[in-house]
Amino acid sequence: MIVNIAIDGPAGAGKSTIAKRVANELSYVYVDTGAMYRAMAYYFLEKGISPEVTEQIENACQDADITIDYRNGEQQVFLNGQNVTGFLRTEEVGNMASATSANPKVREKLVALQQKMGAEKSVVMDGRDIGTKVLPDALVKIYLTASARTRAMRRYRELNANGVPCDLDQIEKDIIERDRRDMSRSISPLRQAEDAVLVDSSEMTIDEVVDRILSIYKEKV
Ligand code: C5P
Repeated sequence: MIVNIAIDGPAGAGKSTIAKRVANELSYVYVDTGAMYRAMAYYFLEKGISPEVTEQIENACQDADITIDYRNGEQQVFLNGQNVTGFLRTEEVGNMASATSANPKVREKLVALQQKMGAEKSVVMDGRDIGTKVLPDALVKIYLTASARTRAMRRYRELNANGVPCDLDQIEKDIIERDRRDMSRSISPLRQAEDAVLVDSSEMTIDEVVDRILSIYKEKV
């Protein structure tokens, strides 16, 4: 039987770490949908396209072939045949992804790919609209959040650990702005699905969040 778990929430709430761990525990496939929007954004940045020029975004979107594969259990994103996974985690790409993911053509293309993945295998999929739009019939829906400061601090530590110079206040500002854009766009805005369970991870360890989600899952299967 195919079972899907949807994890939505704002930037930096810990979705990918948690979703990966839950997928591992259940031997499900982890699908990081943000990486798909980031790959598309990377393509627009490479082409020098500005997010405001809708026509160029929509034309370029048709030429961007995004595919997903797994190596040693890690999701790899391919853009027109090239593995771009290593280029996607920068603030520049994240901000471009947030701006261009509001475009209906971009969403249409990536949502179709995500729905196909959820129909073929049991997945733990994270994003912004998984419970509300991509997998509305998911068995378990989680809305994972944390305060903006906590999320900024986590991103700051992650970037520092990778040797990337950064400024905490600027990261927090970017996170707040990204939340505003993701929550206020007209198409598939970030919001908690009616049947999703709210989990605030501000004061929780990763293990506690994973255990909470697994216990919600066990109640349902
Ligand atoms: O989660 P991540 O920060 O990698 O996502 C990058 C951007 O992609 C988000 O800010 C959001 O605008 C967009 N996104 C989306 N829908 C998803 C996943 C990500 O709109 N399902």
